[in-house]
Amino acid sequence: MTVDVSKQRVITEKVLTEHGAYPVYLPQEEMDQFYLGFCNKTIWPLFHSLPSLAVYDEAMWQVYRRVNERFRDALLDILKPDDLVWIHDYHLMLLPRLLKERRSSIQIGFFLHIPFPSYEIFRLLPGVWRKEVLDGLLGADLVGFHTYEYTQHFLQSVLRILGHGHNMGQILLPDRSVKADTFPMGIDYDRYVNGAISPEVQSEVARFRASLGDVRVVLSVDRLDYTKGILNRLEGFDLFLQQNPKWHSKIVLVLVVVPSRIGVDQYDLMKRQLEELVGRINGKYGNLGWMPVVYQYRHVPFIPLVALYAISDVALVTPLRDGMNLVAKEYIAARTSGTGVLIISEMAGAAKELGEAVLINPNHCGEIASAIAVALEIPEEEQVRRLRIMQARLQRYTVHRWARDFVQETLDTAATTKKFETQMLGNVAQMLLLKQYRKSLKRLILLDYDGTLVPFVADHAQAQPGTKVISLIRRLAENLANHVVLISGRDRHTLEAWFGSLPIYLVAEHGFFAKTAETEWRIMKVIPGDWKHGLIPILKLFADRLPGASVEEKEYSLVWHYRGADPEQGEPVAHELIDNLNALTGNVDVQIMQANKAVEVRVAGINKGTTARELLAEAEYDFILAIGDDRTDEDLFAVLPDSAYSIKVGSARGHAKYNCKDVDEVHRVLSLLAAPSRKEEFHEGPLWRTLRFLVRITDHLTKKR
Ligand code: UDP
Repeated sequence: MTVDVSKQRVITEKVLTEHGAYPVYLPQEEMDQFYLGFCNKTIWPLFHSLPSLAVYDEAMWQVYRRVNERFRDALLDILKPDDLVWIHDYHLMLLPRLLKERRSSIQIGFFLHIPFPSYEIFRLLPGVWRKEVLDGLLGADLVGFHTYEYTQHFLQSVLRILGHGHNMGQILLPDRSVKADTFPMGIDYDRYVNGAISPEVQSEVARFRASLGDVRVVLSVDRLDYTKGILNRLEGFDLFLQQNPKWHSKIVLVLVVVPSRIGVDQYDLMKRQLEELVGRINGKYGNLGWMPVVYQYRHVPFIPLVALYAISDVALVTPLRDGMNLVAKEYIAARTSGTGVLIISEMAGAAKELGEAVLINPNHCGEIASAIAVALEIPEEEQVRRLRIMQARLQRYTVHRWARDFVQETLDTAATTKKFETQMLGNVAQMLLLKQYRKSLKRLILLDYDGTLVPFVADHAQAQPGTKVISLIRRLAENLANHVVLISGRDRHTLEAWFGSLPIYLVAEHGFFAKTAETEWRIMKVIPGDWKHGLIPILKLFADRLPGASVEEKEYSLVWHYRGADPEQGEPVAHELIDNLNALTGNVDVQIMQANKAVEVRVAGINKGTTARELLAEAEYDFILAIGDDRTDEDLFAVLPDSAYSIKVGSARGHAKYNCKDVDEVHRVLSLLAAPSRKEEFHEGPLWRTLRFLVRITDHLTKKR
C-alpha cells in the first residue's frame, strides 16, 4: 500500500501492536521497478511458461536485488540468533542467501507459490540473474514447491546451471546441504464447510437464486491475469453454446474477475478484450429474458463467494498455467450438498490432487466446450462419488497441515546442517591442528591432488598446479620434520612433470607407482596380462555416446571422465556404464569405482590405503595429516590411526574426522602450517644469526687460547 512518509512511524507502531508485523517501506519508484517491473514483467510470465511476455531489463533486476537487500536489513534489525524465517514467493528469491550470509544460525524456509518452470524456460533468464536466483534460493535450508514437477524442475536447473547434484532432493553444497521438497498447499477446509452451511451464506444463496432464475450455473472466479486463461474459457463457452442449443436459456456462466496489477499494459488490454468478448457472447445468444454470461469485475468477499460456490453446478477452472489454484479446492470444500462438478485445467498445480475432476487442456476451446457438456450430464450419484473422494483428500491435507509440515521439515533440515557443521574444520580445530603440528618432531603429510590442491576443470589434462600450489608444497617439504606425500590417481609421467623437482614422495595411480625425490619410480604390484584391452572399446563406446566424455588410459587403470558432459545426461550414462562393467569383469581382478565425475576401473588389491599402511610401518610419526576429496581417499582415511587429522574436502561424509569447504580452504590450512612459527622466525632472524656468530667467535678464541 502507499504510505505517506510522514505517517510511517505511526503506521509502524500500529501494525506492530495490532498484528505483530514489521513493515518494510519502499520508495514508489523502487516499488514500480520491483513489483510491476521485475516480479511481474519478468518472473511472473517466465515462471508461468509464457516467455514471449517476459522482459529483461537490467535496471529492474538491480532494483529487485536492492529490494531483497532492504528486506534482509529489516530482518537483521529484529531477528534473534535461533529464529526461523519463512520466506514466501517469487518476490524474495534472493533473500534466503542474503540472510544466511549475515546470520548463518537462522533457520530459513522458502516456499514458491507459483510454478518453477522447466530448465529450458528458466535458462532464458540472463546468465548472472539465473545463477543469482538459484544461489539466492539455496541460501534456505528448505525450498518448497506445490508439485513434484516444480521440485524436479528446480533440481534440474540447480544441477545444470550450478552443477550441484542431489540425493532424494538433498542438494549437497560445499559447506552445507539444502533440501528441495513438495508441499501442495491446502485450504482451511472447515472454514468453507462451515461457511457453506451458515445462515449468512444460505440467505445469500437464496438471493442469488432469485436473481438468476431456474438455470444451471457454471462458475468462473479468477484474478485478472493472462495465466488464468479467461479468454480461452469464454471462447470455450461460446463454442459450447454454439454446439448445444438445447442449453440456451437454461444455463448461465457467472464470470467473476478480480482486478489485479492495474497499470500493467498487458492487464489493461486483457480487460478490454475480455469485456468485448462477454458483450459479443451475450449479444450473439442472449435475449431479454436470458443473459448467458453474468460478468462482475470486482473482488467478492467470503460470504457471497461461498454462496456462489454453493449455487454453482459446475466450476470452470481453466488456467493456462497456475502454481496451485485454491478456487478449485474451495469449490470442492463448499459443496456440502455432495453434488457439483469441477472442470480443471491439467496445467494447474491443484489438478495433481484432484484427479476425479474433469481434466482439460486449456489451450483447446473444443475441450473446454465438450467438458462443459459432459459435466452437465454427469449423473448425481457419480458427482457425489467423485466429490467425496476429493473432499476426503482436501480435508486431510489442509493449509494448517501444510504449514506444520513445512515448518517441521525446515527445522529438521536445519538441524541436519548444524550437525554437519560440527564436523567442519572450524577455527578452533584449525588452531588445535596447528598447535599439534608445531609440537611434533616427525610428521607425515598425505595430500591428494585433484579436487584437493586444485579445483576440477572440464579437461583433466588442464589442471596443472599453479605457482601458489608448488610454493606451498615446497615450503612444507623443506621443513626437515615433514615427510610430504602427494598421493594421487594421476599417472606417474604427469606427476613427474608437475612435481618431479620437489623434495617430496610421489604416489601415482592410487598406489601402483611410488618414488622419492632421489629414487626412480617403483612398481608396487606387477600385474600380468592385458586386462585393459577388452574394456577400452566399451569405455570408448560410452564416451562416443555422451558429448564431453573422454577416456584416459593409465598403466594400471582406465578412467571414463564425464566432467565436461551435460551433468544431467552424465549421471545416468555413468550408472549404465558401471552396470555394464560390473557384468563384464566378473572374472577379472579389477575394481570399478565411481569417482568425482569419473568412472575408474583399476586392478584390485592396491589403493591409497595400502600405500598409507606401508608408509606408517616405515617410521613413527607424531603428527599425521591427510587431505582428500573423493572415494579413493576414503581407503586412505580408513587406515589412519585415531590421532591423525583426516580432512575431506566438500560436504560428503566418510571416514575423515573433518570436512573442509573447498580447495581454497585446503590452501589456507596448508599455508598456516607452512608459515614459520615465531620460534623458527627467531632462529632464522638477524639477532639469532649475530648471537650464533658471537658464540662461534668466542668458541674459536677460547680454543685458540
Ligand atoms: N478470492 C476472493 N474473492 C474473489 C476472488 C477470489 O476472496 O472475488 C480468493 C479465493 O477465495 C482464493 C484466492 O482469492 O482463496 C485466489 O487464489 P488462487 O490460488 O485461486 O489464485 P491466485 O490469485 O493466487 O493466483
